[in-house]
Amino acid sequence: MRDVGAHRPRAIAGVARPQTVAEVCAVVRCAAADGRRLYPLSTGRNWGMGSGVPATDENIVVDLGGMNRIRSLDLENGFAVVEPGVTQAQLAEELRETPWLLNVTASCADTSVVGNALERGDGSVRSRVHDVAGIEAVLPDGSVITTGGLDTWGRYRGRVAGPDLTGAFVQHNLGIVTAMAIALVPRPQSFGLVHARIPRDQIERAVSGMGAFLRRGNPAEGLLRVRELSLVPSRGDWTLPDGVDPDLFTILGPLLGSGETVRLAEELLRKALLEVEGAEALRVLDATAVMPDDPLYTRALMAQGIPTCRGVHNALGVSSCDQVDAGKMGFLALLPQLPMDVRSTENILQVLRAAAECNGTASMMEWNLVSRNLANGVIQIFFDRDVPDAPARAHRFRQDAGGLLRGYGCVIYRSDIDNSAADLYAQSSPGTLSMLHRLKGTFDPGGLLSPGRYSISA
Ligand SMILES: Cc1cc2nc3c(=O)[nH]c(=O)nc-3n(C[C@H](O)[C@H](O)[C@H](O)COP(=O)(O)OP(=O)(O)OC[C@H]3O[C@@H](n4cnc5c(N)ncnc54)[C@H](O)[C@@H]3O)c2cc1C
Repeated sequence: MRDVGAHRPRAIAGVARPQTVAEVCAVVRCAAADGRRLYPLSTGRNWGMGSGVPATDENIVVDLGGMNRIRSLDLENGFAVVEPGVTQAQLAEELRETPWLLNVTASCADTSVVGNALERGDGSVRSRVHDVAGIEAVLPDGSVITTGGLDTWGRYRGRVAGPDLTGAFVQHNLGIVTAMAIALVPRPQSFGLVHARIPRDQIERAVSGMGAFLRRGNPAEGLLRVRELSLVPSRGDWTLPDGVDPDLFTILGPLLGSGETVRLAEELLRKALLEVEGAEALRVLDATAVMPDDPLYTRALMAQGIPTCRGVHNALGVSSCDQVDAGKMGFLALLPQLPMDVRSTENILQVLRAAAECNGTASMMEWNLVSRNLANGVIQIFFDRDVPDAPARAHRFRQDAGGLLRGYGCVIYRSDIDNSAADLYAQSSPGTLSMLHRLKGTFDPGGLLSPGRYSISA
């Protein structure tokens, strides 16, 4: 299987393509009887973290891309119940002209809503995990369960009383998720799009100013990002996407709400960034008026809940997302939670620069401002797959940077096929590991599902 991240290749025992829940149950029962292991995927575009490659060898890949029904759409209350093969493009199209939007990611329009949410991905409005209201899953014994109030007919009417195990299926391998209830975003009156290009020496102040803005209260909705801060070594054969200016970084993201809330948010944002040189040029555009030839068009679409592949094409130099895993440009991601104060940001950047220098590998940093407490960091690592040692250097950079960040107290919140078991082990207490072990042992005593992916034992 091809992988843009050039992780160690894994031997695959086969591929199953069930189309219905009953077929998933049959695949699970056969695998259990034959002593096989299964690795479920929704659309398999987990680029930077392993694409569609399992964490261990000899798994049967369960490709759920053919299960692509939107089971129900509640346009009164804003919920969709979707199967794993439902793509961002498919659901967004269904929501066109309705009072609701999808919280879309910057990845390909044909990525899965379910797969991304199970990975705790980030959308344009909030972290995707906050969209997850309930799930339906096939357990390793072949039984079908639902959580969070989702019923077995694919309807969702709200969270029911009692314990809710939905979160136990996120970044875990307790079951094959066959449907998910997704909370939609109300379509706002105004679609603001914040944009500023700022000199790189202002990064610490900008991150801290954005944190202060959120802590004082952002009256509008939308996930703001500080992004495109390049970390470039002084020598070596490093690679960055075309058009990136290493002297600048960007503040970007939507402000959604009524005209008044968007205007108030803009005013408060400007005040929070008063000490940031260059931030006076910050603009809040009307996303609906951004034209296709404008470089901000991709982000303007995202702000409106319209997924697009343009961002992936530009970043990885491809003309179709089908080329990503076989293209010249290699890509890895390191995903730590990041503090937002000036001192911590300075320290973190210092160690990351040292790691980039040692390994002759370039990267771009992004702070996804998902909460008032910590940001979801995205360190995008690019490499040229035709340069013989570039993949190895990129992997070493990710290892070194992850270790250094942990030394500064930054935990990894989303991991890749090489490191997810080790990250779980390193970042959990013995008590937590024992509890997870017992939970996995109860649901999956034979270690049938996704061995090595967010679990420490098969
Ligand atoms: C340029 C670029 C931009 C990107 N932007 C973003 C972004 O804005 N936000 C973001 O979050 N990511 C982003 N990504 C990363 C990635 O492409 C997306 O997260 C993508 O949505 C993940 O792939 P997928 O949806 O096909 O999920 P899959 O690859 O199908 O699933 C991901 C993992 O979840 C598990 N899984 C999937 N389905 C099931 C199931 N039904 N049951 C049990 N377990 C399952 C499996 O372990 C699988 O490996 C970006 C990547 C690139 C290259």
